[in-house]
Amino acid sequence: MYADVLIEYNAKSVDKSFTYLIPNDLKDIIKIGMKVIVPFGSKKIYGFVINIKDIYEDSYELKSIDSIVDPNFVLNDELMDLGKYLQERTLCTKIVAYQTMLPSSMKVKEQKSNYSKYLVYIELNKDIKEIDEYIEKYPRRKKHKEILDALRDGRSLKSNYDSKYVNELLKEDLVKIIKEQIYRINKNNKIEDNVNLNIDQKNAVDKINLKEFKVHLLHGVTGSGKTEVYMEIIEKYINTGKTAIVLVPEISLTPQMVDRFLSRFNKNIAILHSRLSDGEKYDEYRRISRGEVNIVIGARSAIFAPLSNLGIIIIDEEHTTTYKQDSNPRYHAIDVALFRGKYNSIPVILGSATPSIESYTRAQMGIYELITLPKRINNNLPEVKLIDMASEIKKGNRVISSELKDRLNNCLNNNEQAIILLNRRGYSTTVTCHNCGYKVVCTNCDIPLTYHKKSNTMKCHYCDYTTYKPSICPECGSKDINQFGLGTEKLEEIISNMFPNSRVVRMDVDTTSRKGSHKKIFDDFKNHKYDILIGTQMISNGLDFENVTLVGVINGDASLNIPDFRNSERTFSLLNQVSGRAGRGKKKGYVIIQGFNLNHYSILKAKEHDYVGFYEEEMNIRKILKYPPFYNFSIIKIVGNNYEVCFNEANRICNYLKDKLNEVTVLGPSNCFIPKINNNYYIQITLKYKKSNNLINELRFIGDKYNSNKKIRVEIDINPL
Ligand code: ADP
Ligand code: ZN
Ligand code: ZN
Repeated sequence: MYADVLIEYNAKSVDKSFTYLIPNDLKDIIKIGMKVIVPFGSKKIYGFVINIKDIYEDSYELKSIDSIVDPNFVLNDELMDLGKYLQERTLCTKIVAYQTMLPSSMKVKEQKSNYSKYLVYIELNKDIKEIDEYIEKYPRRKKHKEILDALRDGRSLKSNYDSKYVNELLKEDLVKIIKEQIYRINKNNKIEDNVNLNIDQKNAVDKINLKEFKVHLLHGVTGSGKTEVYMEIIEKYINTGKTAIVLVPEISLTPQMVDRFLSRFNKNIAILHSRLSDGEKYDEYRRISRGEVNIVIGARSAIFAPLSNLGIIIIDEEHTTTYKQDSNPRYHAIDVALFRGKYNSIPVILGSATPSIESYTRAQMGIYELITLPKRINNNLPEVKLIDMASEIKKGNRVISSELKDRLNNCLNNNEQAIILLNRRGYSTTVTCHNCGYKVVCTNCDIPLTYHKKSNTMKCHYCDYTTYKPSICPECGSKDINQFGLGTEKLEEIISNMFPNSRVVRMDVDTTSRKGSHKKIFDDFKNHKYDILIGTQMISNGLDFENVTLVGVINGDASLNIPDFRNSERTFSLLNQVSGRAGRGKKKGYVIIQGFNLNHYSILKAKEHDYVGFYEEEMNIRKILKYPPFYNFSIIKIVGNNYEVCFNEANRICNYLKDKLNEVTVLGPSNCFIPKINNNYYIQITLKYKKSNNLINELRFIGDKYNSNKKIRVEIDINPL
C-alpha cells in the first residue's frame, strides 16, 4: 500500500504531494487526513496523507512513512474538502489550509494531557528603579536582563522559564512566584433555571428548520435574549443526536455567555480559545474527535472543530471583525460556516444587534432569512444623550462633562454601577515637544509612541517597542516635552480623583495580560467589588450586569477619523453595543456619549437605537461612493523593508492588473494607513469590481510569482460578497 503525502516544508513553494510506502505496522491504522512524519531529503518532516492507493507505477524507489503523529486526529472528508475550498477561496497553499484546521499542539508528539489546576508564573518584586539599578550593576548578566525586560513589558513568564536564571533572580528577591488558579471555566456551575421564552424568542426558535441548509440572520437588539434562543435551538438539535458549533468573538470577553451554556449543557461542551495552553487545547480537540462532546464553543478557529454529525452552526455577534483572520489564510469564519452548512445540509444562524452591512443586505435580498427580536426582555432601552465637548471645554470640563459627572454621582449614590468606554489604552496618546513640535515616534513604525505612566515608559502598540520617556527633546533640547491626549490609564486617574470614594477598575490590554484576568475583573465587577468599570472596546460586547445603569463614552466620535470605509459602521456598532450594557435589569439605563463631531448619522442613529435607519443612510453613501456591498473590494498589500523596491513592484503589479482585468477598477499603489510597521513598508493596491471572471486566476498568478521572493511579500485579501 502507498500513500500520497502532502508535505509540510517551510518554503511556501513546496505544496506538493509525494508518494510513500506504508509500512506493515501502519497499514491497519493509517487513514486519509492523518498527520504523519516522513523522511524528506536528509530530514524528517510532517505531512498529511491525502490519498491511499494499492498501485504505484513509477520506478523510483520509495521511502516509507516513519510514523503517525497522532491517530486521534484525522481530518475527515468534510475537512479535507474544506481545505480545498480554503485554498481556492484565500489563495493559500493546501498545507496551510490543513494546518489551520488542527490545533498547533499536535506538533508535540507526546502530550501530557492534564488540566493543570494552577498557573505558576513569575512577576517583578521590586519597583522599576531598583530593577534598573540591578541591570546597571550587572551589565554582563544578559539572560537576567532579558527576563526582567520581558516582565517589565508585561509579558507573562512561567516559573520554569530558563529556571537557572529565574532561580538566581528569586534569590535576589527581584522576582516572585505567583500561583494562581487558572482560567478553567467551572464546568458544573448551575446558575439559573431555564427561562420561559417570550413570544418573539419562541417565533425565532420555531423558524429554524431542522434539516436543510439555510442562513438565518437573527437581528435582536441588545438584551433581547439572543443567547436563550441559541440555547433552545441547540437543545432541539442535540436531543436528536446532532452536534453544534457556537462561535463567539473572544471567549475571555464573553464569560457570561459561556457560563450560561455550561450551566445548561454541562459537560457536553468543549471550549476552545486562544488562552488555553497547548496541552489544554489538545485535550479539548481530542474530546471533540472522539465524539465525547456535542457542543463546541470557541472563537474564530473553532469553526474548524472536527465534529461529526453537525446539526447547527451559530455565530454570535456576527459583525465582529475578528471573525476574519488577517494573516494567511485570510478566511472569514462566516464563509467557512456557510461551506459547512451546505456540506452538511444544516442551518447556520448569524446573530447580532448590529449586523454587518453585508449580512443585512443579504437578508434584504432574501439570501438569508431575517428573524428579528425587536424588544428588550425588560422592554426598556436606555436613554442616550449626546454631549458636545467643545462647549464643555469652554466651561472648563476637559474630559468629563458636567452631565456625566452628575449622572456618575447619582449612580454612585444609588449604589448602582457604571461603565465608561474610551477606546484608547495607555496614559496619553503622544509625547510632543512644545518648543519645536517634535513628536516621539516608534523607531520601527510610523506611529507615535503612547506614554504609560505606571511603567513610566513609552510603548508602540504595533510592534511593542518600549523606551523611556525623554526628559529633554531629542531634536531641540527643550525641557518642554510633554504628553498629550487621553488614554484609559489617565482616565482611570481622573475618575478616581473626581470620585475618591468610588472603587474604579480598568480593563484593557495592559491590565489583562495574564490568563484569567478578564474573568476576574468581570466577576469582581459583577459582585460589586467595583463601582466603575473603565475600558477599551473590550468591555463593549456581551456583558450582562443588571446593576449597571449608566454608560459613558469618552471621544465617542474618535473612530470616525480612521480612514476606512467601514468607520461609520464600526462607530454605530460600538456605540450601540456599549450603550446596550446600560439598564439591562429592572432599573432604567442612561448613556452619555461625549465627542466633538456628534452630528454624524452613525452617532445620531446610535442615539435612537435605530439600526435600520443607520443601515439605510449608510447604504445610500456606499452606493454613491461605489463601496461594498455594491462593489467588491479586494486588497493587495506589498510588504518589505525597502520602500523603493516595494513601490516599484507595486507599480508593476498595478500595471499588470490594469492590463489584464478589464471589469475591475485598479486603484493605487498607495501607502497603507500605517505605512511602516516593524521596519516593513506597507503599500496597497485596491481592486473594485462587481464581478470578474479572471480575477482569481490573475491574483493566483501574482501570488505564485512572488511566493519565493525574498525582498517583498505580497498579501492578497479577496473579499467577494
Ligand atoms: P442578548 O444576547 O440579546 O443581549 P441575553 O440573551 O444576554 O440578550 O439576555 C438578556 C438578559 O435577559 C439575560 O440576563 C437573560 O438571562 C435574560 N432573559 C433572556 N430571555 C429571557 C426570558 N424569556 N425571560 C426572562 N429573562 C430572560
Ligand atoms: Zn523640541
Ligand atoms: Zn513600533
